Amino acid sequence: MTYEVTLIPGDGIGPEIAAAAREVLEATGVGFTWDEQTAGEATLASDGTPLPDRVVDSIRRTRVALKGPITTPVGTGFRSVNVALRQALTLYANVRPARSIAGIASRYDDVDLVIVRENTEDLYAGIERQVSDDEAETIKVITRGASERIARYAFEYAVANGRQTVTAVHKANIMKLTDGLFLESCRHIAQAYEGRIAFQDRIVDNMCMQLVQKPETYDVLVAPNLYGDIISDLAAGLVGGLGIAPGANIGEEAAVFEAVHGSAPKYAGQDRANPTALILSGALLLRHIGETDAGAAVEEAVRAVIGEGETVTADLGGTTGTKVYGQAVAAKVQALRAAA
Ligand code: NAD
Repeated sequence: MTYEVTLIPGDGIGPEIAAAAREVLEATGVGFTWDEQTAGEATLASDGTPLPDRVVDSIRRTRVALKGPITTPVGTGFRSVNVALRQALTLYANVRPARSIAGIASRYDDVDLVIVRENTEDLYAGIERQVSDDEAETIKVITRGASERIARYAFEYAVANGRQTVTAVHKANIMKLTDGLFLESCRHIAQAYEGRIAFQDRIVDNMCMQLVQKPETYDVLVAPNLYGDIISDLAAGLVGGLGIAPGANIGEEAAVFEAVHGSAPKYAGQDRANPTALILSGALLLRHIGETDAGAAVEEAVRAVIGEGETVTADLGGTTGTKVYGQAVAAKVQALRAAA
């Protein structure tokens, strides 16, 4: 069986890490046909837009994409392609696991968090306006439908993956209507899982402190868009940095797999970036399409190569380049698959 997958290399370090991830996925022996689609800075000149319709059309057709990071200009310029893609395909659940890997120096060795971030609304709804030269405003949108949908996803994820507890993250003490509605929606959905999955909630600032002090006591976190974005970078930092943090954007009709990190422009073209986050996003893709053993082999290969400690990238204290590291993980995947 061959799977057709949309491949978006992206900007900055994207093309280098996408090439490494592709090599690793192909090493599993699972058959892929890649529909490669450019997007981002590269297509501004050629297509006049950073997100040509053909990209969204391709994902609608293949239903699954592996995506490198895309640059978003800060303050001015085009709107985020990443946010536009999530909204166009209603990729409502952004799932970001953060798990300790032996061999990576970090403060904790027993972190196993999954952040489930609502991906379509909140302050990312794009309703922003200039009131005057000295004033601008943006609107935070929270709906019961999207909040219940993401809460249900978090509980279903917990059930399917043998997790124990879902923690809702909010600031309902201050934003009583919007975050209040999010919390109320989570509480409502939690009732259906009583006795199977425990439920608790934390105010976002307290959540951040507790994650820094005792991350091992948390399990699945569910959060509105902005808190989920910030907490998932915090969680990535707990396990060794952005270079190893994978992610999945899941919708009813399509799923896009991408690293938590961005395009890290300062490392572009230097064979220096760590492709692990995108490789592990590829493992999530394999699990999503039902190739569970292949996904597990990719995860095991990453752990083995990093654990051996000789072939690691600069962000983890090594000297290995993106390409050679990707080749080492691919070789390990092949060996694991041959031995299975
Ligand atoms: P970034 O994640 O690109 O980089 C922050 C820092 O983290 C880098 O300077 C680097 O030191 C480190 N880093 C990140 N990924 C790494 C890797 N794979 N290997 C080694 N080190 C790595 O964040 P930023 O600098 O804030 O954003 C750069 C651009 O990326 C911006 O335009 C931003 O909008 C965009 N972005 C895109 C996505 C996405 O495509 N989903 C996500 C976040 C940011």
